[in-house]
Order: sequence, then structure tokens, then C-alpha cells
Amino acid sequence: MAEECGELVQACMKIQRHGLDPQRVTALIEEVGDVQCLIDLMQVHNVMTFEEVDKRIEVKKAKLKQWSSLYD
Ligand SMILES: [Mg+2]
Repeated sequence: MAEECGELVQACMKIQRHGLDPQRVTALIEEVGDVQCLIDLMQVHNVMTFEEVDKRIEVKKAKLKQWSSLYD
């Protein structure tokens, strides 16, 4: 998971540095998929439940709505 999160950070940072283009979006999709795969596996292997993660998603959404314009 840590390794895949690092790869996702790299894909995000390349977009931040060089901008969005189709090749970088493809790389971003690949890394998001890799991380999502491992998130799913952690839930399948009972490291955490889907409900616990869903609860946290709601907390994060509330923070973003309060402190960012991402939901505007
Ligand atoms: Mg990867």
C-alpha cells in the first residue's frame, strides 16, 4: 500500500509540475486503480470495514466543504 501510495503521489506531482495531458491522466488513473485495489484488499482481509471507510469519507467531505472550494 505504501509503495502504491508513493506512486500515486508521484503521478499527482507530475501533473502539478507539468499540467494535465492525456498521458499523465492515464498514469494517474493507473495509480488510483492500484491504490483502490489495495484499499479493497485491506477491506476483504478485514484490516478495516467498508463501513469504517465510508464513515471517514463523510468526515473528509465535510472538511473539504468547510475549508476548500472543491464542492462549490
Ligand atoms: Mg502503481
